[in-house]
Amino acid sequence: MRIDVLTLFPEIFESPLRASLLGKAIADGVLTVALTNIRDFAADRHRTVDDAPYGGGAGMVMKCEPIFAAVESLRSVNSLERVILLSPRGRRLDQTRVRELAAAPDLVLLCARYEGVDERVSQALVTEEISIGDYVLSGGELPALVLIEAISRMLPGVVGDWESVETDSFYAGPLGPPQYTRPPVFRGMEAPAVLREGNHAAIRRWRRKEALRATRARRPDLLVNLTEEDQKLLAEIERETSAQAVPPADAKKENRS
Ligand code: SAM
Repeated sequence: MRIDVLTLFPEIFESPLRASLLGKAIADGVLTVALTNIRDFAADRHRTVDDAPYGGGAGMVMKCEPIFAAVESLRSVNSLERVILLSPRGRRLDQTRVRELAAAPDLVLLCARYEGVDERVSQALVTEEISIGDYVLSGGELPALVLIEAISRMLPGVVGDWESVETDSFYAGPLGPPQYTRPPVFRGMEAPAVLREGNHAAIRRWRRKEALRATRARRPDLLVNLTEEDQKLLAEIERETSAQAVPPADAKKENRS
């Protein structure tokens, strides 16, 4: 897969694109990320990429000309079928969209700065606007890196064990299960015995149940398309929760006295 990134700050990408799984995906050729500096396409002597907003007001707006020229320069290497503007006004990114985008042969990611881009860029060049959440950053570079890293995890061979992707939060709907590692007891807190006993069916069931428990408590909106087994596990969780919620008869007596 090829991703072309248009930015005024290519240096922001240097270290994240070299490190860890993403760095390996790029080194192995599974993913190509090419950086284009929008400023290289400014036509004037001062290499101007922004201008004051029509109508007045705070900040500057990224001009059309350098962005159009930068995108058009990619024609021979990128299909330009998916030109994505990172923008707080875009559709909020989720795992489903990440999976869809990872299936594409190429993408263009446009990182804005200042007050954003001239609306005519969105109108004529951009095929989709993506937000990484309801907050505002100073530029689209970190959102682009978030998207690149999320996409890279979906590409074959990037995450060594595909099962770890499938059990991650959101991949199949619910949040991921809690995880433990050695030692078995740390400061009086014990890792669940079932995880240490080697019964794979019991471990799988425990993990699914705890994933559903966490999702029910934190993100009930993700509890959709549940299997019959999930529904049974959720019913068990409901029973356990309501049993915990009702104080035992003795405790009630103590409270009254
Ligand atoms: N004036 C814009 C607004 O109110 O929507 C905010 C501009 S922001 C300071 C500059 C740029 O950072 C944006 O154009 C976008 O490229 C990027 N950006 C900031 N927050 C973002 C977010 N949550 N998701 C995606 N991109 C974001």
